[in-house]
Amino acid sequence: MKTLQDFNLAGQAVLIRVDFNVPLNDQKQVTDPNRIIAAKPTIDAVIAAKGKVILMSHLGRPDGAIDPDFSLDHIKDAVADVLGVPVAFASDCVGPLAQAAVEALPEGGVLLLENLRFHAGETKGDVSFAQQLAQLGDFYVNDAFGTAHRAHASTTIIAQFFPGKCAFGTLLAKEIDAIEKVMRTGEKPVTAILGGSKVSSKITIIENILDKVDHLIIGGGMTYTFVQALGGQVGNSICEPDKLDMALDILAKAKAKGVQVHLPVDVVAADGFSNDANTQVVDTYQIPAGWEGLDAGPKTLELFAQVITGSKTILWNGPVGVFELPSFSKGTISIGEAVAEATRQGAFSLVGGGDSVAAVKQFGFEHQVSYVSTGGGAMLESLEGRVLPGIAAIQQYSQA
Ligand code: AMP
Repeated sequence: MKTLQDFNLAGQAVLIRVDFNVPLNDQKQVTDPNRIIAAKPTIDAVIAAKGKVILMSHLGRPDGAIDPDFSLDHIKDAVADVLGVPVAFASDCVGPLAQAAVEALPEGGVLLLENLRFHAGETKGDVSFAQQLAQLGDFYVNDAFGTAHRAHASTTIIAQFFPGKCAFGTLLAKEIDAIEKVMRTGEKPVTAILGGSKVSSKITIIENILDKVDHLIIGGGMTYTFVQALGGQVGNSICEPDKLDMALDILAKAKAKGVQVHLPVDVVAADGFSNDANTQVVDTYQIPAGWEGLDAGPKTLELFAQVITGSKTILWNGPVGVFELPSFSKGTISIGEAVAEATRQGAFSLVGGGDSVAAVKQFGFEHQVSYVSTGGGAMLESLEGRVLPGIAAIQQYSQA
């Protein structure tokens, strides 16, 4: 895997694809600079190497036309704050304006280009648009894991114009490394904790990871499709009756592969989907009519914690309860505690793909696990076993 450190970037104009698709408030101020902070190590490395930094990103979905609401000019000051250096801005990402801004850039200087998605060629993966972007730089770095699953002009197509002159940024390299550790090189026992609302949205992930894990913990809304398939009473719990065969098929495959599947043995059931509904702890297989399982129960959490703290490699995707409602957040918090404990004992833990990331941040476990992924869709596709086009492109052209 070629990273920035493998190249001499002094005096080179380095085009860096970052993911600065940050949230803005009504006054167009950045409300969460985390994605900018995540790209800082790569940008700092290019500045330190005396390269010229040219940052390209999308913001929102302007659909291929100029839309002032989505101008990257809004985030220029936040980028300068995070980097601690002045940031120049080019009001187009290709053409004479961009070219002139690059020419004015000193060594170690930073230039932010206008929103890539103001041009329709970006999301279409247009080769001539990618070539226009490529003309701005001597070297190309992809550090945008959040868009690595898209074959867009700036994330994938552009790499062909930089044979032997492209590399992964620090963030993208870290994401790839974390996925590798969980999917291929991780120390055993390997445990995947899968939660969330529906089996149907996680089926490809489950099928892919059955070959990699020793333990599969299933929690959250997904539980009840398995429970109903096994003949249990799920009451009003979320369930996909058309996926019962699929659930049984997963369990049969897991057995054949020697994977131990752990389903909740008890759940916190509620008489309505609200924080102040009445609750009772019941057997997962005997949920009374009119009640729905909204969180894992105490016995379950003890069993899950034992499996988790006995693991050396852990993947966590999806909450085990409706963690957005405080009354049903205990299960997800308890899983976070167990993953943190296992990590303290030396396990590698990756939290990735969607709501479990929000949960670890909300409950303060972000710095107690080994790695929290920055890419929702890109992480889910990686866990499904797909080779992401943005990653494949660098792998192909960096060797050239
Ligand atoms: P996903 O996007 O598939 O990972 O699902 C995340 C969502 O699943 C969260 O918003 C949780 O509130 C929801 N969820 C977790 N457990 C349950 C449950 N037992 N019943 C309904 N929704 C749940």
